[in-house]
Amino acid sequence: MFDAAPLLRDVFGFDAFRPGQEEIVDAVTAGENVLAIMPTGGGKSLCYQLPALLRDGVTVVISPLIALMRDQVRALQEAGVEAGALTSGNTPEETEAVWAALEEGRLRMLYMAPERLAAGSALGMLRRIGVGLIAVDEAHCVSQWGHDFRPDYLRIGELRRALGVPLAAFTATADAETRDEIVEKLFDGTAPRLFLRGFDRPNIHLAFAAKDSPRRQILDFAEARRTQSGIVYCGTRNKTEVLAQALRENGHNACHYHGGMEAEDRRTVETRFAREDGLIVVATVAFGMGIDKPDIRWVAHADLPKSIEAYYQEIGRAGRDGAPAETLTLYGPDDIRLRRTQIDEGLAPPERRGADHARLNALLGLAEALECRRQTLLGYFGEETAPCGKCDLCDSPADVFDGTTPVRMALSAILRTEEWFGAGHLIDILTGNTTDKLRARRHDDLPTFGIGKDWSRPQWQAIFRQMMGHDLIRPDPDRHGALRMTETAKPILKGEAQIRLRKDTISKAPRRPAVKE
Ligand code: ADP
Ligand code: ZN
Repeated sequence: MFDAAPLLRDVFGFDAFRPGQEEIVDAVTAGENVLAIMPTGGGKSLCYQLPALLRDGVTVVISPLIALMRDQVRALQEAGVEAGALTSGNTPEETEAVWAALEEGRLRMLYMAPERLAAGSALGMLRRIGVGLIAVDEAHCVSQWGHDFRPDYLRIGELRRALGVPLAAFTATADAETRDEIVEKLFDGTAPRLFLRGFDRPNIHLAFAAKDSPRRQILDFAEARRTQSGIVYCGTRNKTEVLAQALRENGHNACHYHGGMEAEDRRTVETRFAREDGLIVVATVAFGMGIDKPDIRWVAHADLPKSIEAYYQEIGRAGRDGAPAETLTLYGPDDIRLRRTQIDEGLAPPERRGADHARLNALLGLAEALECRRQTLLGYFGEETAPCGKCDLCDSPADVFDGTTPVRMALSAILRTEEWFGAGHLIDILTGNTTDKLRARRHDDLPTFGIGKDWSRPQWQAIFRQMMGHDLIRPDPDRHGALRMTETAKPILKGEAQIRLRKDTISKAPRRPAVKE
């Protein structure tokens, strides 16, 4: 409805909405009264910050948490948004600056502690500055029966009436009594639009697989779902065309879609996908934003998405009708390398890169998860669940082994060669494979030479991939992608921590000696 995506990216630095955020942002922006219940860490603040930028007038945010308000104001200012706070933590100069910005009509967002509402002058001031929206964080503080009760929260209802503007209330407390009290005290009993969706989409089956022959893997997945509508996401435009062609050659009804196509051609694909049954669209992430097809039965990722949020959003396009839907995400060391490089060489300011790596790490953690994927995924969004019974790891638990020894061997090979080499060369060292490059650098003299020859080359490749997935090693773009050890790996190297690795992906590799227990 509103084009929030560019703001989401440019101001907040996020590539996708978190579960539930988009619907709430739309409703708040449209001026509806909203009560949203989201787990802690779910991303509530964006749900009023983004509408604040899309709506007219000042957005007043009421929150009891002074330190949090100050953090948010600082972050907004750094992102170029005019925001200020009026709290007891202010210096007189800060308060002065907020007032000045208000008087000049520059301020977009004003954070206020509830105590401020008690001052007689507050209402007059808020009337003058042209408030367009009231956002209430920690809305359960209005509940007299809860332990967070703040008497000043009771003034918020009055404020809403006096200003006659929409109100959006947020809380992580989900029980029905608290909810009723919020509706009564903040909205005078007139039911606001309620958002209480947990993040789980229980009808979607989750699965990941290590890339071994990606084209074959995607064709097999599509074959098992012939005549069902599905989407295959690819990392590049070229790949969408190649893969769509391969699917057609195998008798599927498939077409490609990416941002480099003429608008008209893209529209044709969109309409066909909406109308036809059993069409497969092979696409880049450009496909999806406006797609509202309820019966997409499967989504496959031929390449790893760029973050856990992007993953959730893309698989979430399947099964909107609530009927069972399936997903498969392929990933390999090249994907991880590519995503890291994109972050390191991207346009995002350096301080954002750390956060982007963390979101990628979360996705890699999900890819290398050893137990229920849904638990890992929802856990990231702050929601706890029991093992789901609807993911590949619940279907057949991962076979794991203590990988501490090979991981330490790999780390020591990396350090002995001063973090200047990629996996190929390191594996040559570990398996004692004497190449010219190896001899020229006298790496056959290293104590690590040949110490890993109990594992085959493909097994070592799987070990390196899992090490990247656990963020023990990272390719360094300034060293042509040479692998370097991270802080996370230090305790393992020092023998202070152990690491479990998955055996299945390793033993799929041609058998040499069995993986040691
Ligand atoms: P809470 O719901 O607990 O108030 P916050 O609004 O503080 O949560 O958000 C929790 C974290 O999630 C923050 O670090 C924020 O940067 C991050 N976050 C919020 N929305 C997104 C998004 N769409 N993509 C990635 N990270 C997000
Ligand atoms: Zn599960």
